[in-house]
Amino acid sequence: MIQVGDQAITKHDWTQWLARHEADGLTRSLKVADSPQAPHMRIDRQDRLTFCSNDYLGLANDPRLAAAMHRGIDRWGVGAGAAHLINGHFTPHQQLEVELADWLAVDAVQLFSTGYMANLGVVGALMGRGDTVVADRLNHASLVDAVRLSGARLSRYRHNDLDDLERRLRDARGERMILTDGVFSMDGDCAPLAEMVDLAERFDAWLVVDEAHAFGVLGDQGGGSFEAAGITPGERVLRVGTLGKAFGTAGAFVAGAAEPLAVLLQRARTYLFTTAQPPAVAEASRQALAIVRDEPSRRHHLQALVSRFRDEVAGMGGLALMPSSTPIQPLLVGDSARAMAMADALLEEGLVVPAIRPPTVPRGGSRLRITFSAAHDENDIQKLLSTLRTCTKVAM
Ligand SMILES: *Cc1c(COP(=O)(O)O)cnc(C)c1O
Repeated sequence: MIQVGDQAITKHDWTQWLARHEADGLTRSLKVADSPQAPHMRIDRQDRLTFCSNDYLGLANDPRLAAAMHRGIDRWGVGAGAAHLINGHFTPHQQLEVELADWLAVDAVQLFSTGYMANLGVVGALMGRGDTVVADRLNHASLVDAVRLSGARLSRYRHNDLDDLERRLRDARGERMILTDGVFSMDGDCAPLAEMVDLAERFDAWLVVDEAHAFGVLGDQGGGSFEAAGITPGERVLRVGTLGKAFGTAGAFVAGAAEPLAVLLQRARTYLFTTAQPPAVAEASRQALAIVRDEPSRRHHLQALVSRFRDEVAGMGGLALMPSSTPIQPLLVGDSARAMAMADALLEEGLVVPAIRPPTVPRGGSRLRITFSAAHDENDIQKLLSTLRTCTKVAM
């Protein structure tokens, strides 16, 4: 038996569950892309203009990354063939870790196969039964699962509410960890890291920050939330980065001080018991890092698109911007049906902008989630704005 919402489902009831899910309008379905990741894509045999990817710097189909991966395949073959600690840790993995550590000015970096696994690994390695993880209510699902799997107690504070966080830290038992997204994936806003660093010090807690939407995007060198806020992370801060978003490749990493990283190497089960990512992918990620670091013009262009969009929408009326300065720009609609109608109307014009509804977001918090990429140009933004203008009228 499993619990789905407030319904108990026995195995043979899945037919009924699927029918109910469908009737509630919650069924999701796959769409097949038949061109590379880009703003303009061929999806299900139709030309689309997309505002939904995490390819923030437009690197997923960059020819320099593709060439690096080709060279990697020629040199290292296709598969790693084993876990890192057996014989699957190759020279490009090692080089990528050293280069990431240098870029972020930390003692050490450890690669993981995905961000989801990095989060499970870091929380599970450092926390266990009797410990307390104090976590933001709006954290990514992988962070919630990471705490569940670790066996530690999960204490969730109201989104970005420092008083609630402090109260919960005071009540916490065992080892303490503060767990937060750096940039929140559904809202696009940022965690108040300066204050959180202070709280972590006062309560002798780990501070783990998921930088999936921040590395490569925020900061002059793309170094993420800490660089953008001008804060140097201390010994008790660990940062998780993903390589499948701004870096345009795949995989993830944890960056921090020598000792916790030494613990991760010995204890992170999602590191120990899984095959290392292909070394050729690490070669592509090394090329991506060089571009992330050395081409700030991509971030400037992206930021200009975001500012432009916000200025225009603010002057439009009828659309509610959320307080975000990142490339995640949700438009709060409120009602689920209206959000769906707007997403459908946009799709009708060839634009892919997903409607996000409960349970992903709180009740009454349905929204259109727009994400921008440095690969978008002025015309793309114009098209989005003019289509939004007509769609808001239609769907009112
Ligand atoms: C995407 C994402 C992850 C998972 O990363 P993957 O490499 O895609 O597994 C983790 N945390 C956040 C906040 C994310 O947005």
